[in-house]
Amino acid sequence: STVLAGHGLVKKYGSTTALAGVNVEVRERDSLAIMGPSGSGKSTLLHTLAGIIRPDDGQVLLRGERSEMGVPPAEGWGRIDNLGENRLSALRRKRFGFVFQFGQLLPELPAEENVALPLMLEGLPRGEAVARARHWFAPLGLEGLEQRRPGQLSGGQAQRVAIARALVAAPDVVFADEPTGALDQRTSTEVVQLLTFATRETGAALVMVTHDADVAAHCDRVLQVRDGRISGHSQSTLA
Ligand code: ADP
Ligand code: ADP
Repeated sequence: STVLAGHGLVKKYGSTTALAGVNVEVRERDSLAIMGPSGSGKSTLLHTLAGIIRPDDGQVLLRGERSEMGVPPAEGWGRIDNLGENRLSALRRKRFGFVFQFGQLLPELPAEENVALPLMLEGLPRGEAVARARHWFAPLGLEGLEQRRPGQLSGGQAQRVAIARALVAAPDVVFADEPTGALDQRTSTEVVQLLTFATRETGAALVMVTHDADVAAHCDRVLQVRDGRISGHSQSTLA
């Protein structure tokens, strides 16, 4: 069943049409790769679905979200594109996880505290949050690196810490924007395997922008974007 949907999404920047009416459905435990040429609207689409960019037209719907009136709508769906900034940022914290290309970890904090951060923002005491964060290190092959600062981690290790942080608060959807963009091919494969596997294990859906077809092949489905439109849609072979 569908957890997140974009209907007729339009986004313009001056005379540039970044999204020209896009429909996307993300199903439960689904992993969806968004591919396409540079400037085709991939990032804009991801950020719009994630409630970071507001569309000029169309709707973003999230299952289990309450309407503006505070009443759960029929079938438990709610629009999120028209929420106020405070509601939206609380919603992103609670229901979404994010992995970016690089530079997303706080350099002064040990890896385990970086992972614990989303839990602390939810109000969990620091000790408890860090204890829960530590559970993620072994499954992601990060055992022994809990106390390292981001500057003392390799690129692949830093991305695995970022994956742990994206998943620690049990989000419904994880958004990854070029999560392997700064990594070599071998490390990219390791990272995308861990990302798709760990996300599926938690029951979350994954929406990932990548320019790398080998990385996209680890997702269940691949969406091709061109000139702000969906130009193709395929089931993946690998996943
Ligand atoms: P992609 O991720 O596929 O490279 P983007 O979604 O970043 O594409 O951008 C789509 C189009 O919208 C491009 O022409 C880009 O220059 C433009 N664009 C994106 N964000 C902005 C912005 N904040 N201001 C102006 N133009 C933007
Ligand atoms: P990507 O190739 O991953 O989309 P970009 O460098 O195109 O990376 O975009 C990075 C960020 O800059 C995005 O948040 C995007 O919305 C914004 N951006 C892209 N194009 C423009 C632009 N022409 N003007 C302002 N911001 C832009």
